[in-house]
Amino acid sequence: MVRNTLQMIAAGCGVLFVAGGAIASPAEVTVANAERRLEAGADISMTRWHVDAELILVLEKEASRKVTAYLQSRGRLRVVDVSVSINMDDRVILADFGPGFLPGPDEAEVFLHELAVTLRHYAEQAGLPIVGVDFRYQGKPLKSYYPAELAVPPRARIDARNQTALVSASHGLVRVHPALNWDYQRPDAFGFREDMITPPYGDALQRLLEERSGSGVNRARNRSQDPHPESNRPWDYMSSRYHLKTLLPDRTDIWNSLPNDTDADREVKEDIRARPLYANHLGVGTMISLHTNGHELGAIRGVEVYYHGDKPDDRPLAESVLCGMRELIRAQPGYENFPARQDASPGGHGENRIGTMPSVLVEIAYHSNAEDSVALQDPVFREASMKGVEKGVRLFREGKTCEPFVLQQIPDISLAAGTSQEITLPFAGHPQFPVTMEFTTANCSSPGACRPSKTTFDDPNTPITVLMRCRGSLTGDARWSVVLRDVDGVATAPVEFQHTCSKPGGSPAA
Ligand SMILES: [Zn+2]
Repeated sequence: MVRNTLQMIAAGCGVLFVAGGAIASPAEVTVANAERRLEAGADISMTRWHVDAELILVLEKEASRKVTAYLQSRGRLRVVDVSVSINMDDRVILADFGPGFLPGPDEAEVFLHELAVTLRHYAEQAGLPIVGVDFRYQGKPLKSYYPAELAVPPRARIDARNQTALVSASHGLVRVHPALNWDYQRPDAFGFREDMITPPYGDALQRLLEERSGSGVNRARNRSQDPHPESNRPWDYMSSRYHLKTLLPDRTDIWNSLPNDTDADREVKEDIRARPLYANHLGVGTMISLHTNGHELGAIRGVEVYYHGDKPDDRPLAESVLCGMRELIRAQPGYENFPARQDASPGGHGENRIGTMPSVLVEIAYHSNAEDSVALQDPVFREASMKGVEKGVRLFREGKTCEPFVLQQIPDISLAAGTSQEITLPFAGHPQFPVTMEFTTANCSSPGACRPSKTTFDDPNTPITVLMRCRGSLTGDARWSVVLRDVDGVATAPVEFQHTCSKPGGSPAA
């Protein structure tokens, strides 16, 4: 099995920072140490990681077992060897399938996504912080077998003034051939389905984009409760493909883009493609696909944001959305430690590939994990996670980098009794106004003389200031603790400073 330790060998600089800021000499550290160290946001690029040969063997066996089972589920008996290597410079796992497995251009997307999560999970259990998984087929990427089908479209000019977006909530009922049954695309999990839980997330994101970004928003699915004539099920349950068929009946290139496909799930594949093709037709500035994640390993959980590996220009949007979600979700009571990836993930999703605009796919949480499932059904989590997506999109468009909300140090202040002075509180980050400034006393030399206060600032363009006063002839010291809290609950760490009131012309009173 994978050994439960790893070697962390100091790189060129000769020393290695571990959790708590201590300096360690080159040494073997435990996985737990490695995880703490990463949480602290240390510089991963400074570390030379040891990739265990046993880990590689485990990943190869697991991948081979999975792809063989996948082929078997599709009626083919074939053992496929997989060779795995890990490049810790870019923190990517390379999995190369041997002869016997070459999926079609729109095939096996879910299988490959799940396999990537599996390989990443096992490598991370061995202490390696993986960013993504790159699949090869006898040494070559899939696109080299299907250069036309898997080409990334030329990117439309990024226009910061184009504030429109397509919000695409995942899945819905599709017609399965040849029986022509109407089926959901994802299983029932903990009493709900991805197909049906994502549209209310889309509603929240649409409202937030309209209110906070001033965006015009289009939706990929129809939220109407009226019956869809062919299935006699509410439009709300239906996949985008059928909505677009009604909306744009002549545009078969959008909703019937694989007319020669004979697979049972041809309309599933067409549904995936229809969404970004519709975004291209609309000419929107951004496409956001909302999904919940599923995995056979119930322990895997948390927020993930994907961009297409062949569209690296979309990565900053994915990083910004992930950062916004992490900040907003963790600002909610009870969600302080909600797991979220540290980095955006490169993927191979058709939804991200086909759009000519910056496109990201948000895996809000895992419907296959019990705790994530509870969160997914919580309106507080829904609102916070979608506020995070909106914020990430907005900051990306404004060319700003997502950064933590931090109140900078406040110098101690000494005033003569009966005088006052206005001070400005500089901060970093991108809080959502109104912002409340909260003063509490950490210590007060005269009980009752230091009054806590809360002041609200509405205008993001006006500095946050406070008038420090020494009333009347009172002298003494106050140690204040100050917190800034934005309207979404995102708060700075408290900052303390000393406020002294002294006799005019004299020294501070005892
Ligand atoms: Zn999905």
